[in-house]
Amino acid sequence: MSNYKLGLEFAKQQDQNDELSSYRKQFHIPKDNNGNELIYMTGNSLGLQPKITKDYINQELDDWANLGVEGHTEGKHPWLHYHEFLTETMANIVGAKPMEVVVMNSLTANLHFMMVSFYKPTPKRYKILIEADAFPSDKYAVESQLRHHGYDDKEGLILWKARKGEELANYDDLETIFNQHGDEIALVMIGGVNYYTGQFFDLKRIAALGHKHGCMVGFDCAHGAGNVPLNLHDSGADFAVWCSYKYLNSGPGSLSGAFVHERHAHRKDLNRFTGWWSHNKQTRFKMRDEFDQLPGAEGWQLSNPPILSMAAIRASLDVFKAAGFDKLCEKSRKLTGYFEFLLDELNNSDIKIITPRNPDERGCQLSIQVKNADKGLHNKLTKAGIITDWREPDVIRCAPVPLYNSYMDVYGFVERLKTILN
Ligand SMILES: *Cc1c(COP(=O)(O)O)cnc(C)c1O
Repeated sequence: MSNYKLGLEFAKQQDQNDELSSYRKQFHIPKDNNGNELIYMTGNSLGLQPKITKDYINQELDDWANLGVEGHTEGKHPWLHYHEFLTETMANIVGAKPMEVVVMNSLTANLHFMMVSFYKPTPKRYKILIEADAFPSDKYAVESQLRHHGYDDKEGLILWKARKGEELANYDDLETIFNQHGDEIALVMIGGVNYYTGQFFDLKRIAALGHKHGCMVGFDCAHGAGNVPLNLHDSGADFAVWCSYKYLNSGPGSLSGAFVHERHAHRKDLNRFTGWWSHNKQTRFKMRDEFDQLPGAEGWQLSNPPILSMAAIRASLDVFKAAGFDKLCEKSRKLTGYFEFLLDELNNSDIKIITPRNPDERGCQLSIQVKNADKGLHNKLTKAGIITDWREPDVIRCAPVPLYNSYMDVYGFVERLKTILN
């Protein structure tokens, strides 16, 4: 498939022909002490700051300064409804209906709130299935849910492991797990895109399998949102959660998104933790005794939200909207394909891409395993002006992000890696 070519000229040309290349200028790119732009490959960890973000936040600071509490209704973007400004674009990015999506809380907190509703263990069916190298926070969260319900967190956890000598989880193994343990599993909770390998799971297939065996199915899409087309509604998942500070460029610790499939939108039988923000908007401020639950994902909110953080999300989503998520995904495939091509062309048997080779099974991240490497390699890359992410024992995770990374970034990265490895 490769129309890719080696050499600097090709990279330059690709950037020139890239209709999205101007978006890079809309971001602050970190620089070294001499003012040279670094090669930033860690948008999977913390996305870069859009230049408009400051204005969006300042608008809210101004409204707060000038209006005080009146900002809730009189502000340019009234705070009372602020989360609604985010819903449509966010829903579009994750492939959901607006009523299925809400921005609230932080990620691990949302995971717990979703499990309050969707993890309903019984003595016969109480186990939770996760992928073996799940993000630690997710693993800790599901273990604590098991303990919270009085179950042993080792016995209660079923791991979907890669086979010996392999890195990627295999669907045949998943089917085997379901065939053997399906009736013991209450909840399937998988990371939509695995943070370590970059494997983008087939959400629809996993949800269908889980449902066939009577399990609830949820996904943590922290590494998927803004990176790959998740199509959450079509996946049929019961719930999903994600953060907004990785590919969604909304700033450190920014709020999380949550998805609840519309078939649960009006259910009153589902247990949930509630607060005044899960109450009917029309009567919320009448401070009634009786709780009147909001339909849809909004009904899982608890608190009035932090507007400054939401302003940063609104800024970022406006950039996504202008660029178009479909176009970004298209560029992402080309850019990561180019990255893969250059790495392969190094012909270096010490490095191995552990991310799936099939573009449908990955986003922009490539995880590169380096034989006999230690953190020293990462330090050398840093010295060479590259920001990447090192994962013990021997993996560099690199994510060329289509919004702000260029073909020249990818070219520069591989050139410097080559020099360091030699
Ligand atoms: C980044 C990430 C987290 C981090 O959780 P926070 O609650 O935002 O600190 C959790 N799970 C996954 C899968 C992640 O990628």
